[in-house]
Amino acid sequence: MSAVRLAGVSKDFDGVPAVRELDLDVADGELLVVLGPSGCGKSTVLRLMAGLEEATAGRILIGDRDVTKLSPGRRNVSMVFQSYALFPHLTAAENIGFGLVVREVRRAEVRERVAQAATVAGCAHLLERRPAQLSGGERQRIALARALVREPDVFLLDEPLSNLDAELRAQTRAELKLLHARVGATMLYVTHDQIEALTLGQRIAVLRDGELQQLGTPEQIWREPANRFVARFVGSPAMNLLASGAAVGLEAPAGAEVGIRSEHLALGEEGVEATVTLVEPIGSEALVHLRAAGTELVARVPAEAGHGVGDTVRLSSSREHAHLFDGETGERLPWT
Ligand code: ATP
Repeated sequence: MSAVRLAGVSKDFDGVPAVRELDLDVADGELLVVLGPSGCGKSTVLRLMAGLEEATAGRILIGDRDVTKLSPGRRNVSMVFQSYALFPHLTAAENIGFGLVVREVRRAEVRERVAQAATVAGCAHLLERRPAQLSGGERQRIALARALVREPDVFLLDEPLSNLDAELRAQTRAELKLLHARVGATMLYVTHDQIEALTLGQRIAVLRDGELQQLGTPEQIWREPANRFVARFVGSPAMNLLASGAAVGLEAPAGAEVGIRSEHLALGEEGVEATVTLVEPIGSEALVHLRAAGTELVARVPAEAGHGVGDTVRLSSSREHAHLFDGETGERLPWT
């Protein structure tokens, strides 16, 4: 396994930038998630690492090898695509072993390595089936085994769970995390799903319009978002962003916006008067939409609090839970 390094990597398509001067260091054995909205350049970053796109500028290193100009076949990376890209006429075993057969690895060795990879990916019982006879989650495991069998330096995973239903997605996500712990591989995982990023990533790189916004552990990204964009993109419902602290009884510096996560708004006896405009139950909790001091907010509260539309409540928060952002640039500001 190897560390990966992108140094000042840019990619333009017909003069339009998709990735801008990206610096990224992925440690040996790390699972790093690249997170961002549709079109932010996530897939392009993976395709650049795989050698499927050529960088307009910058260098890409895998271990101590500069692979910037190498063809995909010489980089020793494995990519798992959103579509899995399995051959429909081959069995699972043949799909997994395909790359080895093409490289003229001996048949007995192919069989052995396919069996090993399938065991690690949890699909050893499916080897004789064709893709049409497999569920989405099972196909995903075959695609993972096919990536594992090549014993690459780096795994590149492009939204590999997006075709699965919610339950299977959560289950496969957990399995993938265990698999990473077991094989200790360097993995880059692309997603637009912030929950996936928070649950899977050892570190998360947040991208917007091809630019790195923040690189940090899930906890850092959550607790100290570097700017307004990261603050709003990570977390559901999105962080409340207020033009001033007036709606929650906080005095913020002039020109600063105040960000407060829904779970950090308190509805009680004290604070600013607010009107409930909508209640969305989500099981043990409810999302309570409010209007206070001319501002719309969402609070996450225990369902048994029993708020109803039209209720008048009092709203407060504390400085400890309030983030400050520059009203113009959106950059994080310290409380002074
Ligand atoms: P998604 O989550 O929707 O897959 P993404 O974050 O992976 O999005 P990319 O596929 O990396 O985004 O695309 C980044 C930008 O580059 C987009 O504006 C896209 O339209 C553009 N782009 C990607 N590939 C090409 C291409 N081959 N030719 C021209 N433009 C491209």
